[in-house]
Amino acid sequence: MTSAIRHAAATDIGLAREANEDSYLADPPLFLVADGMGGHMAGDVASRMAVESIVRELARNPGALADAVIQANRDVHNRAAARPELRGMGTTLTAMMTAPDGVDIVHIGDSRAYLLRNGSLTRLTRDHTVVERLVREGRIGPEEAEHHPKRSYLERALGVEPQVEIDSYKVATQQGDRILLCTDGLTTMLSEDEILQILVTERDPKRASRELVAAAVAAGGNDNVTVVVVDYPGQAGEGPEPSAQQTRAVRSPNVLRPNWRRRALRTSIVAIAVLLAVFVAVRALTLSRWYVGSSDGKVTIYRGVPWFIHKVDRRSDIPVSALPEVYRDELAEGIRADDRGDAEYRVSKLREIQAEHGSAVSPNPTPSPSVGSGAVR
Ligand code: MN
Repeated sequence: MTSAIRHAAATDIGLAREANEDSYLADPPLFLVADGMGGHMAGDVASRMAVESIVRELARNPGALADAVIQANRDVHNRAAARPELRGMGTTLTAMMTAPDGVDIVHIGDSRAYLLRNGSLTRLTRDHTVVERLVREGRIGPEEAEHHPKRSYLERALGVEPQVEIDSYKVATQQGDRILLCTDGLTTMLSEDEILQILVTERDPKRASRELVAAAVAAGGNDNVTVVVVDYPGQAGEGPEPSAQQTRAVRSPNVLRPNWRRRALRTSIVAIAVLLAVFVAVRALTLSRWYVGSSDGKVTIYRGVPWFIHKVDRRSDIPVSALPEVYRDELAEGIRADDRGDAEYRVSKLREIQAEHGSAVSPNPTPSPSVGSGAVR
């Protein structure tokens, strides 16, 4: 299963930093990003140490991701305690292990995991920041949070305390899923809508990760930016068993859809409404007109326009076949009338013609039902 997964990663120092203190790993089945913090390169040490420690622990005890992260917390904290220049260092960590039935995610801090599924982007992790807690408690709005000066103040990080509380969840995967791990250098520079646009546009994971990082740098690049993109195969038959576990999928359903979809939908609704209004108007206008034609072989008064919108108003008992050919042709085309009275008048005229024609030409005016009816509608 894991071998069918496609993945890529990219990182950039950004425009305003002296060092890249982000670390990442993309080595199936383990994927992670870590954003280190602390003065004088200590952040770089913290994020790299965390990655090394997790890899070492997983080699010893495969699959036990949460345990490995807890051990990494101890390792980083012990190193910081032992070295004055590293005191207070720590790192965010968003780590993921792929498995046949889905992914295990372990998370601390404000790096993030997102799931792209069927064109929608869902955030899988919650930020351990003061600002996100204030939003959750309803004390500030999401817009205020986005520009809050303290939006990157962490409530939790790996290595800062001897013990750490981690979030850990399992997400069931489906064919065609794409998972993004990223540091806050991406999410502070790009809106979730912008991230979504790139993820849906760039189908190749390598191009998608490079494009995400380039866009974050172009948008200001105030921070180191790192992304890992993991694709589950989209073709039926080569991926993980699809829907057995779909039901317990994702947390925090911050579902976003691309702008162009909303626009396309709005445009279609407007277009349909306009067409409907035009149709109703045309129909009303058309049905206010009258003509005489035939139906079921009988002379018939219609509202509407022949070959367009029309409906039977009254069917007479005059057989079309009992009329001279010239009238049959006219009826086939539809004889225009000014109004209902005019139409009735024309029918009465045809009745006179029928009487004359029947006595003059045919000794037996009884119509043959097969004649004439085929000519009209
Ligand atoms: Mn950062």
